[in-house]
Amino acid sequence: MKRPLAISETARNIVLTLQDAGYETYVVGGAVRDLLLDRTPKDFDISTAATPEEIRSVFGRRKARIIGKRFRLVHLYADDDIYEISTFRAPPAAGNDGDLITSDNVYGSANDDVWRRDFTMNALFYDPAKEEVLDLTGMGVDDINRKVVRAIGVPEVRFAEDPVRMLRALKMVAQFDFSLDDSTENALFASLPQLMLSSSSRLALELEKILKSNYCDRHFEVFHDYGLLPYFLPELSAVWGTPVQQAVCDLLYERCCRIDAGLYRNSVSLAIACAALPFVENALGNAPGELWEPGQPGSAGAISHAVDHIFRPQNLMVKMRESAYRILSLQPQLEQTDHPRRGEIMQQRAYAHARELLMIRHAKLPDAEVIAKIWPPGVERKNNHRERFPSKPRKPKFRKSGKKPESKWDKNGNE
Ligand code: ATP
Ligand code: MG
Repeated sequence: MKRPLAISETARNIVLTLQDAGYETYVVGGAVRDLLLDRTPKDFDISTAATPEEIRSVFGRRKARIIGKRFRLVHLYADDDIYEISTFRAPPAAGNDGDLITSDNVYGSANDDVWRRDFTMNALFYDPAKEEVLDLTGMGVDDINRKVVRAIGVPEVRFAEDPVRMLRALKMVAQFDFSLDDSTENALFASLPQLMLSSSSRLALELEKILKSNYCDRHFEVFHDYGLLPYFLPELSAVWGTPVQQAVCDLLYERCCRIDAGLYRNSVSLAIACAALPFVENALGNAPGELWEPGQPGSAGAISHAVDHIFRPQNLMVKMRESAYRILSLQPQLEQTDHPRRGEIMQQRAYAHARELLMIRHAKLPDAEVIAKIWPPGVERKNNHRERFPSKPRKPKFRKSGKKPESKWDKNGNE
């Protein structure tokens, strides 16, 4: 189907370079889906007939790094960003009997590759040279138009192979307001407990992506509605329907509105702080919205307990939890409109995020504008972003054992 899509110039150049080197190559997955839905893609995943070694020889070792073990792919460093390039896969042997997939490195053709993807809407390929969308399952474009999430193949088998797909299906429901097709929905209901068989690192990674998204309150609501929440986030599930949960979702919703309005950026640690705040208030015997006093006995313990436990058993990165701790700890001080150490507080590392949480908390209160003037927006200390998207390739880190660390993109691997 001829359909020009506005992919990034860099993604286009990468695809064309591989095509010129003789390898069939496309932009794939979420970016094609998002562009067909008139949304801006977060990133551009690329798939090619070239093997990881061949990709590396096209772009050179300095720019192209082979990562992963159970799912090998290439990270290409281009224009201050990282592009993921995967090689077309053949369907995994385990796929037929529904075992958990532990290795997925048998290469195949584009036509093979499409059938091992999760949902029809995620299995579209885009060729920027021909400006064509390839719908090799024959259902992807229709399903996007009909707003349906449909598992490719037998849904029970696909969820058994990789239970994280259930989470991914519901993310599409939350994010795009899609519905599950009947057989995908029935299989999901029957497979929910299997989510706990998934590797904790992959679940933590999905949670991180959810917290970073603009719809995280909606994600939790959909997970609850479909019965997935107890298997994914039992602590949040346990308070569902109480004022604490309502306050969590209200704060996350307000945060998302402010991001949409361009008032602040997306941050995982701020999302953790929003979600943990009502738990801290509750633990200290306060109603949601009633903050604790500065230095109140037990408050430090309640904050660290909340940030550490709210998303258990998913283990978020320590530096994010530490940052959430600092954001929450500053709140009672920011409530003081004439704080004697105002200048000092504004110099603190957590100030920018903490001030944003203050604004979120006061968004519906009459004093929001006054507070905004007393505490001006902070200048963020940039370090996290640089760490995640280094402009230059860094040397791969090795564990003490000498083995390469597992790739976070180990899509079908399980520990
Ligand atoms: P996002 O906007 O969150 O990046 P995405 O669909 O691009 O959404 P990725 O994790 O970047 O998600 O994956 C890229 C593509 O890889 C998907 O669109 C899908 O085709 C395929 N994929 C990802 N995870 C799985 C999985 N667990 N099983 C099968 N295919 C998968
Ligand atoms: Mg993607």
